[in-house]
Amino acid sequence: MPIRIAIVGYGKIARDQHVPSIAADPRFVLAAVVSPRAPADAGVPVFPSHEAMLEAMGQELDAVAVCTPPTVRLAIARAAFAAGLDVLLEKPPAATLGEIEEIERLGREAGRTLFTAWHSQHAAAVAGARAALAGKYVRALQIRWHEDVRKWHPGQEWIWAPGGFGVLDPGINALSIATRILPSRLFVREATLSFPENKQTPIAARIAFEGEAGRFGADMDWRHTEGERWTIRVETEGGTVIELLDGGARMTLDGEPQPAAERGEYPSLYARFAELVEARQSEVDREPLRIVADAFLVGRRETVDPFL
Ligand code: NAP
Repeated sequence: MPIRIAIVGYGKIARDQHVPSIAADPRFVLAAVVSPRAPADAGVPVFPSHEAMLEAMGQELDAVAVCTPPTVRLAIARAAFAAGLDVLLEKPPAATLGEIEEIERLGREAGRTLFTAWHSQHAAAVAGARAALAGKYVRALQIRWHEDVRKWHPGQEWIWAPGGFGVLDPGINALSIATRILPSRLFVREATLSFPENKQTPIAARIAFEGEAGRFGADMDWRHTEGERWTIRVETEGGTVIELLDGGARMTLDGEPQPAAERGEYPSLYARFAELVEARQSEVDREPLRIVADAFLVGRRETVDPFL
């Protein structure tokens, strides 16, 4: 029997990636959608809230994929576990570390699967980079995550509201890759967060990690209008340079292109979720969220031009 899954939060990522990935995987069938404001033509029952959906068809569901903005995740996960469902959380898994800890506890108590789905960790070249760095001493790390907020988040107000992460919403993808491939943990030493004077979240962030000064850092910026730059460059003690390009889709080793996996990020995510559900296990990775929280804790705030 396929896993009967509902999507809660039927926005950009749900439509672009979750729906086609569910449709392409015979282990899943899309059973319902929750879309509070926008009418949805999903070809399945559509509900205005997760409560209405669970009341009407909780018995006919096995799992939910939560694709809402982060601040509402805890209430949805709590209700889903109470209804006996397994839960996949889009990244970032929650708005705070306290919330993801509580979601994890609730899942464990309910005996259900919880999967914090960091899609960038499933990018084609990430496993290869992780293997290449296993057991190595890392001498330098440089993350550049530059993109145009108007292109990638058109009209999304939640990203500018408290709990919306600002540029750290895409930037956390880079951190999810870095924490996956590096052999040791990253600690934020200092950060500069640039807030538009009319917004509650940063449009740019520069983070310095513990390590030799100037050699471990991340530069995230939403003001780049001339194409995206999503790169992670790692240098090891022996001088080898591993570069992940295009958000982890490609990798070079000392400038030479390396082979990468064939499967896309979201099909790979759903394959992993199916494995976890079948094995009745959970996979919870809080580390990228921990680094973002640390950057907000120790970061210096600077005010920049309003975002209009
Ligand atoms: P979005 O287009 O704004 O969609 C969010 C959806 O969540 C909206 O349809 C909204 O519905 C719905 N929603 C809000 N509160 C809800 C609630 N309490 N119950 C049910 N639905 C609710 O945002 P998005 O870009 O898809 O991003 C959603 C999440 O996916 C974010 O955490 C983001 O980081 C992640 N993500 C986004 C991308 C991307 O490229 N956009 C890529 C990967 C991951 P209404 O509009 O009807 O209120």
